[in-house]
Amino acid sequence: MTDPARAPERANMSELERNDRDSFFHPSTHVAQFSRGEVPQRVIETGKGVYITDTEGKKSLDGFAGLYCVNVGYGRQEIAEAIAEQARKLAYYHAYVGHGTEASINLAKMIIDRAPEGMARVYFGLSGSDANETNIKLIWYYNNILGRPRKKKIISRWRGYHGSGVMTGSLTGLELYHQTFDLPRTPILHTDAPYYFHRQDLSQSEAEFSQQCADNLEALILREGPDSVAAFIGEPALGTGGIVPPPAGYWEKIQAVLKKYDVLLVADEVVTGFGRLGSMFGALHYDIKPDLITIAKGLTSAYAPLSGVIVGDRVWNVLEQGSDRLGAMGHGWTYSAHPIGAAAGVANLKLVDELDLVTNARETGAYFNRSLKDTFADHDIVGDVRGEGLMAALEFVADRDSRTFFDPAKKVGAQISAACLERGLIARAMPEGDILGFAPPLCLTREEADTIVAITKAAVDTVAASL
Ligand code: PLP
Repeated sequence: MTDPARAPERANMSELERNDRDSFFHPSTHVAQFSRGEVPQRVIETGKGVYITDTEGKKSLDGFAGLYCVNVGYGRQEIAEAIAEQARKLAYYHAYVGHGTEASINLAKMIIDRAPEGMARVYFGLSGSDANETNIKLIWYYNNILGRPRKKKIISRWRGYHGSGVMTGSLTGLELYHQTFDLPRTPILHTDAPYYFHRQDLSQSEAEFSQQCADNLEALILREGPDSVAAFIGEPALGTGGIVPPPAGYWEKIQAVLKKYDVLLVADEVVTGFGRLGSMFGALHYDIKPDLITIAKGLTSAYAPLSGVIVGDRVWNVLEQGSDRLGAMGHGWTYSAHPIGAAAGVANLKLVDELDLVTNARETGAYFNRSLKDTFADHDIVGDVRGEGLMAALEFVADRDSRTFFDPAKKVGAQISAACLERGLIARAMPEGDILGFAPPLCLTREEADTIVAITKAAVDTVAASL
């Protein structure tokens, strides 16, 4: 219940706002402060292009596309119509024992056509987290079919983000997602974050740092025993862990180690899939050859919940052999391949093609990244300006020469994000470190990119002057 001391403010609240404070358990929110009315609430009502508007009429340029997911931008009627038509025709049927809908079949084919070579089938879920849970089960099942019951450990990276389910929360390499939840950590191992700006040895080149990541991965596999290590999972470019494109040579060196020890590679493309880096997939962008690919967000541009696992030939062939021995696989959700999500996915991927958004992510992304570099590379409190396609970040430091970070208690990143919001821009304070993240809709124009940079400059200058 809300603190009665705050009653005067409650009196000014609308019924909707009161119900929000009293009834709605928000994810990733300080729930006590929210209930007490100590942190703001915001009720979003409409969206158009890269802008959203709340119930008080305040408009914001959404420089993070929701949670890097509204890739085609808000308010696209083509997707809304496709959803409505599917709902009128057939809102639901399941996908078990060979059932499907035209939308789910067409979408699977569209995904395979766009995926890197060697991908065989698409398994549909609802969220990035559940798709990664599916990955883990498929990896274990695969090794059981192959008669390798010990080969079960999965390596992810510190600062990787793979969801917040029971197993996927363990995969995620951010302490915030582990604390106090008693997640099962044993089959999960973590290795180095591919985070060149945070290297210990400042004299190291990117190539040397990548080699060190690969050497440490190899040492970990040898320490654990290669016959116990099943898979490695990574985002082609780190997202929630700080928006960090990989250092030069990273994926080539990592893949060589995985190949040597027969370790499967999962590319978590929940953020990077369908164009964000300026290529259809991050795997294509960085020449990664994954065995499994996780997709969600950009698959439907979040117009309806839908995720998937794209299963490569190597795993698929074994699953087929296994089913001849073991029968049907006991894995599925009621809403797997939900027709409304699938219809949204088909309409969304058509729109991505029609609007040529992958090219726009590459070209407008290059313009945006250049503009961020020109504006911030010499700024007193900006230690790193990085990005690829329409994903970018500024990292703030107390001293540039010695790369001294700010005291986390100062919450510099959060202050700058709040200063952007006051000026009409949503840019995300990333959860670990003083990092301001950008991942706008892929339909961003150069003028909108200029607006983002100008607002960010005003916000950074204002906060810097107050430190
Ligand atoms: N994988 C990556 C790379 C993500 O960024 C996310 C979410 O941001 C997930 C998985 C989890 O997706 P969801 O929040 O839909 O469960």
